Amino acid sequence: MSAAEYAVHGDVAVVTLNNPPVNGLGHALRKGIVEGIERAVADPNVTAVVLIGAGNAFSGGADIREFNTPAAAAEPHLRQVIAIVEGAPKPVVAAIHKVAMGGGLELALGCHYRIAAPAAQLALPEVKLGILPGAGGTQRLPRAIDARAALDMMLSGNPVLSDRAPGGLVDEIAPGADLLQDALAFARRLVAEERPLRKLRDQKVKLEGDAAAFFAEARQRVAKGSRGFPAPPRIVDCVAAAVELPFDEGARVERERYEALVASTESKAMRHAFFAERAAAKIPDVPDTTPTRQIAKVAIIGAGTMGGGIAMAFANAGLPVTLLELKQDALDRGLETIRKNYAATVAKGRLSEPEMAKRMALLSTALAYDAIRDADLVIEAVFEDMGVKESVFRRLDEAMKAGSILATNTSTLDVNRIAAFTRRPQDVIGMHFFSPANVMRLLEVVRGASTSKEVLATVMKVAKTIRKTGVVSGVCDGFIGNRMLEEYLRQAYFLVEEGALPQQVDKALQDWGLAMGPFAMMDMAGQDIGWHVRKRRRAEDPERQIYPAWLDRICELGRFGQKTGKGVYQYPAGSRTPVPDPEIEQLVIGYSKEIGVERRTVGDQQIVERCIYALVNEGAKILEEGIALRASDIDTVYLTGYGFPLYRGGPMFYADTVGLNSVVAAMANYAKGRNGQFWKPATLLARLAAEGKTFN
Ligand code: NAD
Repeated sequence: MSAAEYAVHGDVAVVTLNNPPVNGLGHALRKGIVEGIERAVADPNVTAVVLIGAGNAFSGGADIREFNTPAAAAEPHLRQVIAIVEGAPKPVVAAIHKVAMGGGLELALGCHYRIAAPAAQLALPEVKLGILPGAGGTQRLPRAIDARAALDMMLSGNPVLSDRAPGGLVDEIAPGADLLQDALAFARRLVAEERPLRKLRDQKVKLEGDAAAFFAEARQRVAKGSRGFPAPPRIVDCVAAAVELPFDEGARVERERYEALVASTESKAMRHAFFAERAAAKIPDVPDTTPTRQIAKVAIIGAGTMGGGIAMAFANAGLPVTLLELKQDALDRGLETIRKNYAATVAKGRLSEPEMAKRMALLSTALAYDAIRDADLVIEAVFEDMGVKESVFRRLDEAMKAGSILATNTSTLDVNRIAAFTRRPQDVIGMHFFSPANVMRLLEVVRGASTSKEVLATVMKVAKTIRKTGVVSGVCDGFIGNRMLEEYLRQAYFLVEEGALPQQVDKALQDWGLAMGPFAMMDMAGQDIGWHVRKRRRAEDPERQIYPAWLDRICELGRFGQKTGKGVYQYPAGSRTPVPDPEIEQLVIGYSKEIGVERRTVGDQQIVERCIYALVNEGAKILEEGIALRASDIDTVYLTGYGFPLYRGGPMFYADTVGLNSVVAAMANYAKGRNGQFWKPATLLARLAAEGKTFN
């Protein structure tokens, strides 16, 4: 079967895009479309052409299997294909069902007319990969629909539905169930009515009102709202070019901006992130063919912060969940929190009342293990205490049916020890969710020494079902994310001891692109959590686990962050906005004096380098120890769970873009400073730097 099939139905030619799974516009398909159009044009019996997709889409856009291969660049390019379609002397109709995205929508915009099935998704999502529609989309869309709506579509990258799309995007919604029949009828009608060959390239841009003011406002909005992201300002340039210049000149602007973006580090980082997330689903010794268990019923032990959030994640995906606690009032509190969370989403208009009711109805409660014995998956989210975990896992081992997967949400405890409390360690695994668990995308899937491949494959599949990004981690203190974070935080603590104020550290890292600085983040999570970890680690390894005591002093004051109204920052009247506190500035300055450190000015660059390179160095150790399967998995953890800026591609990718040699050189410099012992490069990092190689 060819990538584009050609058939003639009476007097109308039909070119069917057929490149599963989503008719990606790979080379063979591009060539096939051109051949189809040429054949139709040459056939005197054909009066019109319909372009339609086979299977699940009109077209999902570029064929990502072709990325970075010569085929992607082989002629005809998509721009050439579209020029041929648009230049055809017979009407060409795009018949769109399900999905027309990226290049797929650009192709449809090159057709003279568009008919769509209801609820088809139309989008130009290139912005999400740090690029822009490069096959004329930025020039044709503002000629098809209002330029304001066109700009919004390209800046958000989000789909609009065909039957609710801005006027001009589609000409007709197919009235029947058979899109092809409707498209044929539509094409015949166009011919009978002698409708003109409507070429968007020849149309005027639709923009009402003052163009200059509109673009000035758009540039400002983008500069503020998309700081650091490379594509949005250039998309504005292109739409402005569409307004100001003839089509071909505008297309040249598009071309130039597109190429600059493709070459930019930020866009490379975003594309890296996209592929990294896909790669994370692959486990070398657990092939896709590994059998999985069916997960139809879920139980959760502990209805606290995490248990509640995890329950919501499952209910959101339509799975029934039973929450188990020891006391009824704990269950009542847990359910009430969930109800409030859903109600807040309803109040924001992002969830309907019936949908909320449906999700609440999926939740049930239990006080005894008997009630959950037939759950296929049980996730423990009780207190972070080995004794409590032991009692829970012994009871689970007694109670649960054979084959049920026993997962722990522990953040720091040894999953292998937890597994050893049962007689079925092969069924035990870590599922480390992030708070709030119904929102955060990351799920670290912790593979114990005895975890079976079947259990691992099943849990990775479950991650997908509940729309999480599963990343496999080996067992170690803190797994991938928190183990690295510990070194990052340590540098942040030292920086404050040496002369920076907490708000300066936070601001430098936030300006660099992190969603939040370390101290605001800890205030949000609760300072008591970090305090507890520091105490434990100091006791376990006093030689190495050195932390300045200034933050402990803050904790000793009962300042645990947002929940107590004060932490490193103050939070007036229940607000969540951190406000620097002069009392803490005095405490910090006094502390430095007490330990005999003369405070000095610390530059923002040093703040960023020390915090980020600390992540990189620990990441390298995690990689060489085999805790992470690949460098890009570490990037995915940071991008999906820690607010790392997407356009930096994750810590390991970022280090690659800086150059590992430069990273190691900076570390050597910091090694000469106070607490320099933390700057010994990981063996892997030192080796790659010496060989001029990268992590990725
Ligand atoms: P939490 O204190 O909010 O909730 C714990 C719940 O477990 C409480 O409702 C408690 O009543 C219940 N519980 C205690 N012992 C029990 C038992 N024997 N049987 C049944 N229920 C019992 O704590 P949390 O923040 O939800 O943390 C739970 C787990 O998740 C911990 O292991 C923690 O390390 C981990 N975790 C927490 C976070 C976070 O940000 N809070 C993130 C990831 C993982």
